[in-house]
Amino acid sequence: MSYNKPIPTPSPLTQPFYDGAKEGKLLLPRCQDCNRVHWYPRHICPFCHSVNIDWIEGSGEGRVHTFAVQHRAFGGWAEEVPFVTAYIDLNEGDRMVTVLRGVDANDPASIRIGAKVKVEFDQASEDIHIPFWRVVEE
Ligand SMILES: [Zn+2]
Repeated sequence: MSYNKPIPTPSPLTQPFYDGAKEGKLLLPRCQDCNRVHWYPRHICPFCHSVNIDWIEGSGEGRVHTFAVQHRAFGGWAEEVPFVTAYIDLNEGDRMVTVLRGVDANDPASIRIGAKVKVEFDQASEDIHIPFWRVVEE
């Protein structure tokens, strides 16, 4: 295994997400009472405080909300600088932080707010697959 970056340890709260990721699915927590998706996984809905949370399969699509170019990093990420981190507006609602792919970190003016993105997964270990987002249109 060549993945050399931090690997999350799932908790009972986050295990469904990683089970989905292993199958290439972006599972998202959704409140059964107000029907809103939230990210990151929580025991209580951040919008209406309900504890009735389930998981839905997201489209794996979204748009760039904002981004930043990273010039310094630690561990395995140090080998990747410069790279771009971004907030993704998920099509289902709320936002996810990612390392953005399909962009030129040396030409940040070429990166467009609102660019369409799709999720992809890196296999970090036997059971852990990590989501990253890639710009799929200019
Ligand atoms: Zn809610």
